[in-house]
Amino acid sequence: MALVQRVRKQLSLMHAYIMTCPQRASLLQQLGSRPHMMSAEGDYFAQDMYSLRDLIDILDSDLADRLAATATALAAHIMGGNCSICSSKGFFCEYCTTPSSAANARRRALAETGVNPEAPIYPFQLDIVTQCDACGGTFHRACHKPAECPKCARRGKRSGSQVFAADSGGLAAAAADAGKSAIG
Ligand SMILES: [Zn+2]
Ligand SMILES: [Zn+2]
Ligand SMILES: [Zn+2]
Repeated sequence: MALVQRVRKQLSLMHAYIMTCPQRASLLQQLGSRPHMMSAEGDYFAQDMYSLRDLIDILDSDLADRLAATATALAAHIMGGNCSICSSKGFFCEYCTTPSSAANARRRALAETGVNPEAPIYPFQLDIVTQCDACGGTFHRACHKPAECPKCARRGKRSGSQVFAADSGGLAAAAADAGKSAIG
């Protein structure tokens, strides 16, 4: 059941891509008789809805594995570059793409863990990508520190709140971290 829930979360994060893709009809066919497995992002109620048939198949069959394979195929469509509309909707992680020594250190750290820092990121890459709880920004999981979120900091700056002062400390700390990893 944990696998099914994870796959459904991934599918819900793909929902906006699939629904705006010109190949939507054929992509949705991959979900077969279970289009409800891909609910809209943020619709947590729908994400927890299962038909009796689903529950029986989760227990009795390899439904979880088949759903996971479908999610992998849909992810390949979105990220693979064969669909320019989907693949153009990737994100770049601000932590490691904004030129700075801290960003360079982050890019090296990502590469060491097998993540290509040059590749755009997509919210449904749950292993390596996360979204900021406060602003919804999309970042590498390894880069994101909620207290240092660059998108939140910009919002704070615009509204003149104190977030910017707190963020300066965060950036200084990040720079110090970068110095450490450069020596190590
Ligand atoms: Zn597409
Ligand atoms: Zn990053
Ligand atoms: Zn944020």
